Amino acid sequence: MRYENSDESDEIREIRLAVARLCGQFPGTYWRKLDREAGYPTEFVTALTEAGYLSVLIPEAYGGAGLTLTAAAAVLEEIQKAGANGAACHAQMYIMGSLLRHGSDAQKTRYLPQIASGALRLQAFGVTEPGSGTDTTSITTFAEKRGDHYVVNGQKVWTSRAEHSDLMLLLARTTPKDKVVKRTEGLSVFIVDMKQALQAGMTIRPIRTMMNHSTTEVFFDNVVVPAENLIGEEGKGFRYILSGMNAERVLIAAECIGDAKWFIAKATAYANERRVFGRPIGQNQGVQFPIARAYAQMRAAELMVRHAAGLFEAGKDCGAEANMAKMLAAEASWAAAEACVQTHGGYGFAEEYDIERKFREARLYQVAPISTNLILSHLAEHVLGLPRSY
Ligand SMILES: Cc1cc2nc3c(=O)[nH]c(=O)nc-3n(C[C@H](O)[C@H](O)[C@H](O)COP(=O)(O)OP(=O)(O)OC[C@H]3O[C@@H](n4cnc5c(N)ncnc54)[C@H](O)[C@@H]3O)c2cc1C
Repeated sequence: MRYENSDESDEIREIRLAVARLCGQFPGTYWRKLDREAGYPTEFVTALTEAGYLSVLIPEAYGGAGLTLTAAAAVLEEIQKAGANGAACHAQMYIMGSLLRHGSDAQKTRYLPQIASGALRLQAFGVTEPGSGTDTTSITTFAEKRGDHYVVNGQKVWTSRAEHSDLMLLLARTTPKDKVVKRTEGLSVFIVDMKQALQAGMTIRPIRTMMNHSTTEVFFDNVVVPAENLIGEEGKGFRYILSGMNAERVLIAAECIGDAKWFIAKATAYANERRVFGRPIGQNQGVQFPIARAYAQMRAAELMVRHAAGLFEAGKDCGAEANMAKMLAAEASWAAAEACVQTHGGYGFAEEYDIERKFREARLYQVAPISTNLILSHLAEHVLGLPRSY
């Protein structure tokens, strides 16, 4: 099957092969067991960390590989394409961008080498709140400055991997919304030492979800965060978070492309092999066409992912392209998931085929980290010049 992009560099090809090899040590049985037990893939995350794949975006000066977004996207795509689930650790790649771009030298020196070596995990990203949802500037978790520290009170929801992370990147209000001129002002970003916070005011409550995602609610009750953990300037946090969004969109899109490739490969193999009415089911166009359509959707989305990554790396504005890449790739992976289940008939529902697990996992990306509607409204307003809808 044609998946390879002939213009890819040798470096990217080697990364793909090496990641695929590593993932080969973690077969379906491994993921199925974790799925059943709602367990965290510690061994998998450790193997990725030790091989240096989770720190590809950290500059060499801080112990990382200092590679491009394209390289990071290749890592995540290959993980998904191998049937594994990068959701256990993907956030480290994009959360770290806020620290990298806006953190002080002292913060970078303190945290980045430890993140690169795996001594510290920065996997938790506390943005969403129950009362604000998609409307991020309406968050109410508040960090009040008191001398050399801040005192945080409030609640986050859907804070994934909080139980498996040493550090959290937290977005909180430092000025109430009704006291700022623009609603995007008065928000600040902090690095929270979760081990310390858990001893003094922070509570984590797991949320069971339809797939194994280690997501949680996090409660802050007078949690003290040293002022030196503020990233950049107080009140500018929304801008810092936004500046990391494009990389996040591209990386999630790459994961969706990997998922789509996994579903398409699985469906194609089965359609060739399964015989009903004395011939392979894949001989029927009713079986072929959904797979072929999903393949075309995936390849088109892949082009947009590569285009967005290229713009990002060239330092150009890629907001629209990164958002389109994420939307198109999530839709392509879902089309491929549908085709894969349908091709497998009853067996698509059997746990041992891994399809139902991947099906549940793939659905997320039309909702998180940003839902399709919000991408469409971004395009409508910022690209097409239509009136703002909210
Ligand atoms: C498994 C999982 C993991 C997550 N991990 C994290 C994490 O680690 N950190 C974090 O901060 N967040 C995380 N999230 C949160 C995720 O980013 C949000 O769920 C998502 O942004 C949508 O917010 P919401 O659930 O509050 O939906 P809502 O904002 O309540 O929206 C509900 C529906 O209404 C639609 N909608 C809302 N407003 C509009 C509008 N103006 N126009 C059109 N449609 C609209 C939305 O598109 C959506 O379909 C996670 C979510 C899930 C499910």
